[in-house]
Amino acid sequence: MGKRPPRDPQTKDVLLDIQRRKRRRRLLAYGGWGLTAVALLVLFVGAVWVTLGNDSDVALGENPPFDPSLTTDLTTSTTMGPTTTRPPPPRPDTTAAPRVASPTTTAASAPVATATTGQPASPPTPAADAPVIVIDPGHQARGNNELEPIGPGSAERKPKVSSGTRGTTTGTPEHELVLAVALKLRALLEQAGAQVLMTRETANVDISNIERTQLANEASADLYVRIHADGAGSSSARGIHVLYPAAIDGWTDDIAAPSKQAAQIVQPGLIRNTGAKDLGLDARTDISGFNWSDVPVILPEIGFMTNPDEDRLLATDAYRGRIARGLAEGILEFVGK
Ligand SMILES: [Zn+2]
Repeated sequence: MGKRPPRDPQTKDVLLDIQRRKRRRRLLAYGGWGLTAVALLVLFVGAVWVTLGNDSDVALGENPPFDPSLTTDLTTSTTMGPTTTRPPPPRPDTTAAPRVASPTTTAASAPVATATTGQPASPPTPAADAPVIVIDPGHQARGNNELEPIGPGSAERKPKVSSGTRGTTTGTPEHELVLAVALKLRALLEQAGAQVLMTRETANVDISNIERTQLANEASADLYVRIHADGAGSSSARGIHVLYPAAIDGWTDDIAAPSKQAAQIVQPGLIRNTGAKDLGLDARTDISGFNWSDVPVILPEIGFMTNPDEDRLLATDAYRGRIARGLAEGILEFVGK
């Protein structure tokens, strides 16, 4: 039996579309000087033609026709999140996530998404310049203890994906809670016009943290949001905090600053909407899903499932909605929407 692939055909199509769009924007961003040079060259050639007694209009008319839609892209891309002007990720595809989809994954995921969110099957088509958000609901029904490097080229390894914590009072598994919040968040972001990709829409998947992160990288996500909940030895521990990558040379040095900026915006939004205890921010060096990321990434820990009060709150639809709203407000502010 082959390993379950992490991507369905729909996701693959969306990814290809995003990549095409981002490539075009990058080309234009880099092409700024190139275009100036081409324009000067064209003027020069035109002048030569005139000097030689030819019709300059013909010479100028031979330039490729100007596509106004490209200017729109260029203009909007500069006003968007920090990633749009970053260089293309130089990531070699070392871990080679399988791209071919299994029909089982698609069949299983579609009904879950519709039933939980009450959203129409096909969300509104996002605008060409829509910010791209990748949401990773942490964990999955069963953890996978096979090991993978905690960063590119690292000898240090961690389990591909752990099984997560569980509500001490309600018994809710973390993977279920964070998926429910993620689906609410997706709905809010899509309503606001963002393009959203999910690393999973069902519990029955086997997707490692590197594979989840590769989806965000391939989508050149403006923000990669990994939703988790906490567990602690003491039942009194409670509150919300947001983790972000500390700068590690060659791994996260290029994304640490924008990630921290995103965390600084998202954390107060979460506290404002939930009234939870404010545990602030945490810079981390030990998280595979950070160290493999080429795009700004945050990991909100939305509460302690080992605290009876917080666990009970987290089990309610209303409180999950407040968390999703807090996240959405911060994320949209970060990507400039
Ligand atoms: Zn977790």
